[in-house]
Amino acid sequence: MSENSEKSANSSWNYHPDLPLANPSIFQWPTNPTFLFKWIFNNWLTLSERILLVALSILLWKFCYPDFNKVQVLSFDWVIQTYVVNFLLILTFAGLLHWYFYMRKGQGDELKFDRRGMGEKNKLWSFSNQVHDNMFWSLGSGVVQLTAFMVITMWLMANGYAPTITATSNPIWFVLSLILLPIFSAFHFYWIHRLLHVPLLYKRVHSLHHRNVSVGPWSGLAMHPIEHFLYFSSLCIHWIVPSDPILVIFHVLWLGPNAAMSHTGYEDLLIKDKRRLALGTFYHQLHHRYYECNYGNQEMPWDRWFGTFHDGSEHSTTETRKRKVRMHV
Ligand SMILES: [Zn+2]
Ligand SMILES: [Zn+2]
Repeated sequence: MSENSEKSANSSWNYHPDLPLANPSIFQWPTNPTFLFKWIFNNWLTLSERILLVALSILLWKFCYPDFNKVQVLSFDWVIQTYVVNFLLILTFAGLLHWYFYMRKGQGDELKFDRRGMGEKNKLWSFSNQVHDNMFWSLGSGVVQLTAFMVITMWLMANGYAPTITATSNPIWFVLSLILLPIFSAFHFYWIHRLLHVPLLYKRVHSLHHRNVSVGPWSGLAMHPIEHFLYFSSLCIHWIVPSDPILVIFHVLWLGPNAAMSHTGYEDLLIKDKRRLALGTFYHQLHHRYYECNYGNQEMPWDRWFGTFHDGSEHSTTETRKRKVRMHV
């Protein structure tokens, strides 16, 4: 591939990070202690998205979600309370991000990957509008199923059917779980995502999410109900691994509101020209454009190990297109 065609392929983006994409996986061999320390520092010892979500989990647990004693008996009032909190969470996260980036245009096109905006007056979308269509799936099936998985998990824990710990009774396992949950959820996501790309399931189910080539915050949870079911089943880990309810809430935030953040279509939130909060990744943006690549998450090694990694180069695009043809013959 000549340098010129590489340049013109890359210029089809409004913005992209340095290419080819670096390998930010913590699963590197030989292990690099400096890299691991930086990873821990950036994710857990600064005001990162993960720290913000932990703080929010504690606040929601204390003030918004139903009292743990109450959830022993299934009843309409606390199930509805859980549903309303989840509905407001998705509405607030996706709504605020959409308002800031796409209505107020608070950051213009800076760090925006795709040149395109949200689709309008296009029959591809229900209501002929990408945002309204995405809201319908996110707030409909998305919030209902997220709530259902959460309610069952909390009920199992409150009744002693699922193993429970508390942050004070087992602080080491609590902290370790916080670090491991996003890693587990990336592992789970990779495999259900590969399954969703099996041609039959792709056509009937996952193509709904993939209509979003140019993504926005509401695209994150815009999924077919079967995909919601598979995606939120990640929460079943708490049925077998000892957890504190705060860990369940953190996991809920990681799967729900975090999907809005990671699909913003921008790499970072800039405040006074400084990158203050990580949002989307070019890694997943490439998946939305080229489909049969980058099924997982950039920090995890699965795509590299299983040969589905797209590093943003034209060579990777050619390989991905060949894979797509092989898969969909
Ligand atoms: Zn996506
Ligand atoms: Zn996909």
